[in-house]
Amino acid sequence: MSNGEKISKDARDRKISEAKRIKLTEFFEDNGYVVCEDCQRNDCLPIDCSHNISVKEACETGRTELCWDINNITLRGRECHKKKDGLDLRFKNNELNI
Ligand SMILES: [Zn+2]
Repeated sequence: MSNGEKISKDARDRKISEAKRIKLTEFFEDNGYVVCEDCQRNDCLPIDCSHNISVKEACETGRTELCWDINNITLRGRECHKKKDGLDLRFKNNELNI
């Protein structure tokens, strides 16, 4: 659980970027490719790093550390990501970023 420590948005975003990079690297090392983990189709592109529990929800519920927990990140193609997050998704913050 969170210890209540405040973390700046910049520091949080850096940790999230790092977690996404680790997630992608580990997935690639295990599989030799990256693919949408939801549908496994090779045409579900581009691949985004998608939070299972959103950054917003994690912060609002005092579980900020979930933002950079790689177990809370799933590789999702754009279509599956849209389906999961709905129409208000801000892709700018979720672009594949290696
Ligand atoms: Zn997909």
